[in-house]
Amino acid sequence: MNASPRAAAGTERLAAPPPRAVSSWGRLSQLPHETHALFDRTRLPLPSTQAPALPFGNGRSYGDSCLNSQGALWLMRGLDRYIAFDPDTGVLECESGVLLDDIISTLLPRGWFLPVTPGTRYVTLGGAVANDVHGKNHHRAGTLGHHVLGLTLLRTDGTRIECSPTAQADWLSATIGGLGLTGVITSVRLQMLRVRGAWIDGETLPFGTLADFFALSAQSEASHDYIVSWIDCVHGGAGETRGVFFRGNHAAETRAAPASRTRSLPLTPPVSLVNRLSLRAFNSVYFRMQQARAGRRREHLLPFFYPLDGLLGWNRIYGPRGFYQYQCVVPRAVQAEATAELLAAIRHSGRGSFLAVLKTFGDRPNAGMLSFPMAGTTLALDFPNEGAVTEALFLRLDAVVREAGGRLYPAKDARMPRELFLAGHPRLAEFQRYRDPGIASDLSRRLLDA
Ligand SMILES: Cc1cc2nc3c(=O)[nH]c(=O)nc-3n(C[C@H](O)[C@H](O)[C@H](O)COP(=O)(O)OP(=O)(O)OC[C@H]3O[C@@H](n4cnc5c(N)ncnc54)[C@H](O)[C@@H]3O)c2cc1C
Repeated sequence: MNASPRAAAGTERLAAPPPRAVSSWGRLSQLPHETHALFDRTRLPLPSTQAPALPFGNGRSYGDSCLNSQGALWLMRGLDRYIAFDPDTGVLECESGVLLDDIISTLLPRGWFLPVTPGTRYVTLGGAVANDVHGKNHHRAGTLGHHVLGLTLLRTDGTRIECSPTAQADWLSATIGGLGLTGVITSVRLQMLRVRGAWIDGETLPFGTLADFFALSAQSEASHDYIVSWIDCVHGGAGETRGVFFRGNHAAETRAAPASRTRSLPLTPPVSLVNRLSLRAFNSVYFRMQQARAGRRREHLLPFFYPLDGLLGWNRIYGPRGFYQYQCVVPRAVQAEATAELLAAIRHSGRGSFLAVLKTFGDRPNAGMLSFPMAGTTLALDFPNEGAVTEALFLRLDAVVREAGGRLYPAKDARMPRELFLAGHPRLAEFQRYRDPGIASDLSRRLLDA
């Protein structure tokens, strides 16, 4: 579902609306939810619900962190006002339901870009803070939470908490990456990044082994703001992992942006279009295309940061059963061995998807108690939902992650075992003290409350 209520000051629910089927990006379930749209950040208290509720941004989380099938959802997109912007310092204050896409459209022409951005711009600012999202510049800039100068949190008991790195900093740290469980973020103050234009000096470097990937990462972390790799998850064998390394810096180019084109997938196919055959064929063609494009080029930042946003609704290619994303991080000391093991298990299974991303994270200590990154390497892959077969592969991958001392990203997760979550989040007990008892999610029931 894409909830997109427009602002209509002061209007809230008068009577309980009928339940609506809501799914997250992975489309693994479509369960009915009681929903209430929020429009007014000054209005207290939050709309009352029979069972605990959950803030819902734009539903771009893959699993169940944004779902609450046993309770209600507060739809946040109606909180979409800008509050203040200082063109000298680049400090933006806006409501939490504003989409990153809107912020880019408004501020990029004025020379300001997001300090950190995930691989889609169709997420709300509040949702991005609640997952403490990372981007291609983690090695230099950390996560989005490192650039939050303050936020307002509304709790279900009616209290309003203004927190920042210097005031009530513990509440800020609990709420950044806090999965919406500490309260409703109604507004955020964000330090934007000064850029000279909308262009990136990018470079495409095909590679043939994991050792090449790590060497390119080490070299590029010093010279480039943005680094990320695509890998072919079905090709290769011991010692061979082919992929494409992308790196870039903001260019000193002020030329106007070309009109961006988006297409959308018109319907959901009856079965997943991603299977062993299509995967092998696509990956071969894609790798050869990137080999032909190898080298430097100046490109607009929208396709550089958001290649997937060009096809709206692409998540439907996996058919009615939906798909999982498996994203893990493993610590630097064991990243080479652990990544090789993960890729070997995936290759052996013959499963996976076109979307397979490998990236190194930097050293910056996390801004949030439950933030996902750690110094090391993250691997993210989509898998069509094939039931027990998919779960069996995930259990093999979990074993590698557990052994390496890594963790999985809750924003992408719909199934991780609770003990893996606990092992990966040493500050969980501290975080639990900041939870709002009137808020719950399918993920919190599965992993935090059991
Ligand atoms: C194509 C694609 C690429 C992606 N790439 C990346 C990436 O590179 N890096 C990365 O880190 N993530 C990435 N993601 C994941 C995505 O950025 C996050 O899941 C993001 O948080 C989703 O934001 P949303 O507005 O859709 O929030 P939702 O998915 O609706 O909600 C996410 C969480 O935020 C909470 N929440 C939402 N609004 C509020 C609020 N106002 N107050 C308090 N809590 C709130 C919800 O309760 C939930 O726990 C990607 C997702 C997609 C679909």
